[in-house]
Amino acid sequence: MSATEYDASTALIVVDMQNDFAHPDGSLFVECGDQLVEPINIEIATAAQARSVIVVTQDWHPGTTPHFIDDGGVWPTHCVAGTWGADLIDGLDPDSRASAVIRKGTNGEDGYSAFSMREPGGIVDIPTGLAGLLRERGIERVVVCGIATDVCVSATALSATKAGFNTTVLWDSTRPVSADNATITRVLSEFADALVTVIGAPA
Ligand SMILES: [Zn+2]
Repeated sequence: MSATEYDASTALIVVDMQNDFAHPDGSLFVECGDQLVEPINIEIATAAQARSVIVVTQDWHPGTTPHFIDDGGVWPTHCVAGTWGADLIDGLDPDSRASAVIRKGTNGEDGYSAFSMREPGGIVDIPTGLAGLLRERGIERVVVCGIATDVCVSATALSATKAGFNTTVLWDSTRPVSADNATITRVLSEFADALVTVIGAPA
């Protein structure tokens, strides 16, 4: 059973279910990320049946970018365009159902949110076009799941609500890079402040 309800004015956003994050051999594997495939497939199937818009995001970087440690950034090299690490994890079932694939970070930006990117260290948001796409399709509500809770899922949910969408995060269908209490508390309080609904939030 899916964790929430879907309809034609809802979009399901599946964030970064790529090998480098979700596969145990990935360069930036998020613990238990591989366990998300099954629950997310249930959300995808339910959303598809309800004619929701389904959006899949991929981190999609050039081989060198200030986003990576090797070039002064904070992350190990991951999700380089066209490599295995950037592919969606096997078993995820969006291929025939996704209405849109959003690739972020393609020009070397930090691409945390599905809605906007930013030059590393920069202050200007560069829209990905997702907000316009959703509005064109009459979307009012956004449901977010995927990886990682405290990075791209959080950035995507916060952008969605800022863009005026009623926003829900499916907590059990996300996994964090940092699972420590301080991080989880911070993420939950940011969601609460931004009026993001969290289904399955830890007590
Ligand atoms: Zn990245």
